[in-house]
Amino acid sequence: MKRNTFLKLGAATVFAPVAMKLQALKSWADEQPHTDIMPAMFVGHGNPMNAIMQNEFTKNWQKLGRELPKPKAILSVSAHWLTNGTYVTAMEQPKTIHDFGGFPRELFEQQYPAPGSPELAKQVGLVVKTTDVKDDYQWGLDHGTWSVLLPMYPKADIPVLQMSIDYSKPPQYHYELAQQLKELRRKGVLVIGSGNIVHNLGMIDFDNKTRFDWAYEFDEKIKGFIDKGDHDSVLKYDKLGTIARLAVPTNEHYLPLIYSLGLRDNKDSVSYFNDKMDAGSISMRSVLINH
Ligand code: ZN
Repeated sequence: MKRNTFLKLGAATVFAPVAMKLQALKSWADEQPHTDIMPAMFVGHGNPMNAIMQNEFTKNWQKLGRELPKPKAILSVSAHWLTNGTYVTAMEQPKTIHDFGGFPRELFEQQYPAPGSPELAKQVGLVVKTTDVKDDYQWGLDHGTWSVLLPMYPKADIPVLQMSIDYSKPPQYHYELAQQLKELRRKGVLVIGSGNIVHNLGMIDFDNKTRFDWAYEFDEKIKGFIDKGDHDSVLKYDKLGTIARLAVPTNEHYLPLIYSLGLRDNKDSVSYFNDKMDAGSISMRSVLINH
């Protein structure tokens, strides 16, 4: 290896591109006045119509938007962006994606014109060391993100990025990836996982007349694990057998919870909101992780 590919950074000799990345990270961090550690959240998003409805769920989203410290930026891991590899939106102006069908025109007319942040996209790539987080210029904000943020931050004046879920990877991989994002909390970034702990569209009852015992049982079991800080059992949810197969027939809505738990520090407190079942087979239970 040529000598000029190295440069000195303090006492350590490091590979030049890495040193440049570290310097970029440092200068970005210096610009951030935040000393507080931002909370992290898992939000049960449920029905896309929540974006424009006034109900018990959206009232809590609105309340959080008013009461949480205002983030410098938001990084959302949505159940609705599944990829091979991990991507982060890196465009200046992400588009609003209406990734659903059969809903009223009013929902399709909604826009969430929050800016992006190519700079923060770069930082995400820097803090994640275990995989190459690639820049994306095609995606935008899907309804897992904007249906929650529209009620929560209606002004859409905070930069928003999405990070995709590498759907080829097991829960442990996502947990370890999320742990590396912790650093962003110190830089004023609100990281949100958006999915649903229980999500079985095949069993859905929009009239809300059905009570599925397995849904409550699974939801309570997962809450119990989170309460105890037993993240390993959250990751190994499939050990719960039949109730897990019913609650999580496919795990794209469950994995964002794992991202949120990966962002949790030992000293953080955990609380819940919207801990109700909707349409029988969707748990809206959401988790607020606070320093
Ligand atoms: Zn969804």
